[in-house]
Amino acid sequence: MGTTMDKIIDFHVHIGNIFSHEPKYSALPYKPERNFYELIKFRNVYLGKWNYLAKPILESIGRKDKYIVSIGDLRQIMNSYKITKSVVHALEPYVRSLDVISACKNDNSLIPFCSVDPHDPEKSEKLRMYKKRGAKGVKFHPVIQKAALSESTTVELFEEVQKIKLPVLCHSGWGPIGESANGDINSFPPLIERFPRVKFILAHLGMYQSKNAIRLGESYPNVLFDLSWQPAGNISRAINQLGSKRLLFGSDWPFVLPSSSIEIIKNTVEDKKDQYNIFYGNSSRLLGL
Ligand SMILES: [Zn+2]
Repeated sequence: MGTTMDKIIDFHVHIGNIFSHEPKYSALPYKPERNFYELIKFRNVYLGKWNYLAKPILESIGRKDKYIVSIGDLRQIMNSYKITKSVVHALEPYVRSLDVISACKNDNSLIPFCSVDPHDPEKSEKLRMYKKRGAKGVKFHPVIQKAALSESTTVELFEEVQKIKLPVLCHSGWGPIGESANGDINSFPPLIERFPRVKFILAHLGMYQSKNAIRLGESYPNVLFDLSWQPAGNISRAINQLGSKRLLFGSDWPFVLPSSSIEIIKNTVEDKKDQYNIFYGNSSRLLGL
């Protein structure tokens, strides 16, 4: 125990309310609970994008604010699941970059990623300022931020990102809340081709479009993926076709508990070196740790 082989970086966690301005944090104490999708090990992703119709209904049955969490809740989760470091994502205009940067201050197990609203006319200046204050990367969410990949404002955002040389975690795949189609994996190639020096980390391996996501990875070497929301079969396929060096462990907590993805990866990825790459090596290289 305690060797580098046991280290885990969770590349994809959130704090606050990523869907709306209010409330910022839940009034009720956070209770870690497995969601329906975790219980079936994400297997029903084969239903395709129609799955998104069921998801908001299922979630509304439970406590609506159970996904609004604080940095204290995150520290507890990291302790329980022995996670060495977490990458914490802002999501403007809802979760503010300066709040995330200050929440991660003085704790080197927390790595802040900033975000700008793609429609904000001051986004370039803000990105430079966030980097100066300690942001190690950028989060972009075309669905929640309602920004199509082909929009000029999105292209402007990536122009600045390429200049300041920060990696970007992009939501990918159809999404349930916001402009669903903006996450369509098939709309990514023109943007990726236009910015060959940007490291794109496509979240969720394209969600329900993992086959197309893997194909995208085969075409563009500057594309990496996090494996949140993915069942064992898709993870095996990704390793077979892309190798383990471009795949990162990410949970998408608090929407999913880290335990599910950790178990799936440990049970699916046989080679210890591949496991090390996915859980720690790739992220640590990308973040310059
Ligand atoms: Zn996210």
